[in-house]
Amino acid sequence: MADLRLRFPNEPEYHQAVEEVLSSIEEICNERPEYERLGLIERLCIPDRIFAFRVSWVDDKGRVRSNMGYRVQHSNAIGPYKGGIRFHSSVNLSILKFLAFEQTFKNSLTTLAMGGAKGGSDFSPKGKSNMEIMRFCQAFVAELWRQLGADTDVPAGDIGVGAREVGYMYGYYKKMAREFTGAFTGKGMSFGGSLMRPEATGYGNCYFLLNMLATRGIDIKDKRVAVSGSGNVANYTAKKLLELGAKVVSMSDSNGCIIAPDGLTPEQFEFIFDLKTYQAGRLSEVPEQFPDIQYHSGKRPWQLVQCDIAMPSATQNELDEDDAAALLAGGCFAVSEGANMPSTPGAVHKFIEARILYAPGKAANAGGVATSGLEMAQNSQKLSWTAEEVDAKLKSIMTDIHAKCVEYGRVDSSYVNYVRGANIAGFIKVADAMMAQGVL
Ligand code: NDP
Repeated sequence: MADLRLRFPNEPEYHQAVEEVLSSIEEICNERPEYERLGLIERLCIPDRIFAFRVSWVDDKGRVRSNMGYRVQHSNAIGPYKGGIRFHSSVNLSILKFLAFEQTFKNSLTTLAMGGAKGGSDFSPKGKSNMEIMRFCQAFVAELWRQLGADTDVPAGDIGVGAREVGYMYGYYKKMAREFTGAFTGKGMSFGGSLMRPEATGYGNCYFLLNMLATRGIDIKDKRVAVSGSGNVANYTAKKLLELGAKVVSMSDSNGCIIAPDGLTPEQFEFIFDLKTYQAGRLSEVPEQFPDIQYHSGKRPWQLVQCDIAMPSATQNELDEDDAAALLAGGCFAVSEGANMPSTPGAVHKFIEARILYAPGKAANAGGVATSGLEMAQNSQKLSWTAEEVDAKLKSIMTDIHAKCVEYGRVDSSYVNYVRGANIAGFIKVADAMMAQGVL
């Protein structure tokens, strides 16, 4: 870690993600000295390659604007590079390197043949017109398309990149590459998308949570669940929770959060889903429609509402040590992460120390990329599976990931450290593949 910090200063998120994995796999590495001789850890800590480029595009007023674009290809040891694209003003190399690093181990956990990558830009789609977004997506792909391909590197969505942006990027890729292949996932249904891909991350997180609860014989019905975010992952998490009979007591966006002390009703949830998915609205508008819902400007939900379960589903480091302490004091007994690395190291430490059910994003949100893997399989076969088929596969993959975490993360008869389990299970497969393939 000291070496990594010296070589790559000013990359705190990247250091955080690497440190978490390295501390979990330390024992395994000590048992296998060949890893050190082969420089395996050092190699895994440096992405295979990084593309960084300028993206120039023309706004609606005819002014030329420039943003940074990146693609971090972290590892293709077990399959083609695979990972989403994020468009958000906060995007920088540290964040994309952490996401690509995590993606490699997450993809390994899914049991599908996918390597790890992540890309994005500091371009913010907020407040941009449809045509500006299209021009930006085209300019982004004009730079990147040669590095992509169904068997090379397959991007998907992430924060700020949904079906519309994937559609524009895939369209331009197809024009440049002159081929119709599954080079992107999260595509529209009429051009190779998979049913259930939009739902997959949120639903998958709920399936993982159900598996965790089952280990302690807990029924999810009527449990109070605090969700953060109100984008793709949060919305489908909340939707499935309502279906399962749980109470969704909070949601958030980048300006603040809403608290529904008695749980959102289906009608309230539908309103929020529509507002955030189709109207580019803000959660601050919700109390105007439903006065029993409180809005807290600039706040996150964790210290504002009592809950049994927390599902942070917005962004990295959105739940800190104080939030974790408040959750635990309120009786929270399970945390299942929809976002990538939403809990700070201090918060993770508190959850593990308290021996609650705590699933890191790497395991709990892997349903999204797993279903992307299923989309790739359907594209290769030129077939489309039904929603029921995809959902059944998603459930079974989440159950398998849970079983892997238990296998490698069991501490004693009453406690599983899911962080340790996910990191070791994900790492071993990648390490074995790297050992077999020689020094690359
Ligand atoms: P979306 O862009 O659809 O939604 C993101 C949500 O988080 C929005 O409500 C947004 O608020 C809020 N948000 C974004 N940045 C911040 C911030 N800095 N502070 C507070 N709130 C913020 O993204 P997704 O739902 O796709 O992604 C959410 C998380 O899940 C990310 O960590 C992503 O990496 C992870 N993930 C996503 C997968 C997917 O399939 N989409 C797969 C696996 C992980 P606002 O509405 O104001 O923009």
